[in-house]
Amino acid sequence: MRHTLPLFLGCVLLSACAAPATEKPVSVDFVLKAGERPAACGAPIDGIGGRRVQISDARLYVHDIRLTTNDGRSVPLTLAETPFQHDGIALLDFEDATGACRSTPATNTRLTGTVPPGAYSGLSFVIGVPAPANHTSATTAPAPLNLAAMGWSWQAGRKFIKIELDPEGGITRPAGRPGATWHLHLGSTGCEGDPVQGEAVTCSRPNRIPVQFPAFDPQGQNVVVDLAVLFDGTDVGRDGGGALGCMSGPDDPDCPGVFRQMGLTPPTAQPPFLRIEAKK
Ligand code: CA
Repeated sequence: MRHTLPLFLGCVLLSACAAPATEKPVSVDFVLKAGERPAACGAPIDGIGGRRVQISDARLYVHDIRLTTNDGRSVPLTLAETPFQHDGIALLDFEDATGACRSTPATNTRLTGTVPPGAYSGLSFVIGVPAPANHTSATTAPAPLNLAAMGWSWQAGRKFIKIELDPEGGITRPAGRPGATWHLHLGSTGCEGDPVQGEAVTCSRPNRIPVQFPAFDPQGQNVVVDLAVLFDGTDVGRDGGGALGCMSGPDDPDCPGVFRQMGLTPPTAQPPFLRIEAKK
């Protein structure tokens, strides 16, 4: 009996003994598709950007992931710390180093974390990396911000979305030789300030994409990233000028189509290229 009281008091004073058990684990699964078909590295896929393509990269960063309670409160999903998740930022990686994909064999298609106990009915998140974490060195930053392949420049930060497609027959250009890979690189542009000198970086076009799904059941549903919808209205067999594909250049003629389908311009709460779908 005399041992019970100190233990009880310790729990009260530290407020720690019961806390971990009260958090509710949540996983949010993402799948890459082309319409109704699964999309992956290593096999040609018809009907993306009007062509038969091989995927050569498919990765995106997300942060500020939240669930909405049944009574309408937005609650942060506290992400677990993993090689793909750190400090509230996660990398979704559909690239597995097979076929035309040549980066990292590991993939990550699931966000994992915890929320306070309760009933939840909605999901929201932001595509991109928040400042100032965006403007850090990829050689010294912790994972998942340490990938040179997802880095852009210190000023501009990370590629928020990196989708690369190799269309059969190559890519015609206004001048010069045909290209092989249509690049979709979304990131902040118009950035000023030198992070190497300790200056804050501000970008005239942050290009982060807020996403909101009012009805989402993490156990029964996936978030679909649909490449057929993303490139609807774009011909990935030709480039209109500027970077090969769209590297977020405000004047690149190949950007307005994918900007629209990403829900960036004009802004929409539910980007066309994302949807919720029942798990099979
Ligand atoms: Ca272009």
